[in-house]
Amino acid sequence: MPTPHSPGRLVVVQSAKRKRCSVCRGGPLSLLVLEDGAPRCLDCADLGHLVFLPRGDTALTRRSREESALSAVVVRFNRRRSRYERQGVLVEEEALSRAEARCLVDAEARRRRRARDARRRAVEDERFVAAFAAEILRLFPDCPAERARAVAAHASVRGSGRVGRSAAGRALTEGAVISAVVAAVRHVDTPYDQLLMSGMPRYEARRRIAPAVEAVLRAWQGAGAEVG
Ligand SMILES: [Zn+2]
Repeated sequence: MPTPHSPGRLVVVQSAKRKRCSVCRGGPLSLLVLEDGAPRCLDCADLGHLVFLPRGDTALTRRSREESALSAVVVRFNRRRSRYERQGVLVEEEALSRAEARCLVDAEARRRRRARDARRRAVEDERFVAAFAAEILRLFPDCPAERARAVAAHASVRGSGRVGRSAAGRALTEGAVISAVVAAVRHVDTPYDQLLMSGMPRYEARRRIAPAVEAVLRAWQGAGAEVG
């Protein structure tokens, strides 16, 4: 087994061999320090007051070592790979407590930021739906307000990829708004869905219901001009 080497760091070895301390003869040692090839127990290496932090939480590990005046890397020899692998660190218990506190503060800060972001998105969504509905009512003044609102809300469901979420929908272009209204009318005011369910091809179903869609749109336009 080669000597573990980590420049500028204290290295402690996890050992399955039943070695004893070369100084105090204590043992067998599960953790030892090699000094000039001779095993020493943690007490004789002046590391006996440190606590073990297993690897896995990189932020906690980094902070524990920052907070700790004295720390050591714990390694174990992997025979199959023929190399030492990190198992964790030894740090002062107080340092570990301070590091845990810092990580908790961070987690709380992240939680609060996520909540703020969610609230902001909800407000943005609300504004977008209101603007979308207003645009529907501008183009279709006789469309019932609750229908306009429902179409706008449906079209702007976050992450749905529906028209309201597309760049055009975001910009509230007439084309995008009309597309959303036409889609809603098709599904709500005509037998389009039943025709599709009955196995009718999409183009045929759309042709069948086109007059009904036109009639609803004209009625919602009221006395205004034709929608282009
Ligand atoms: Zn010893």
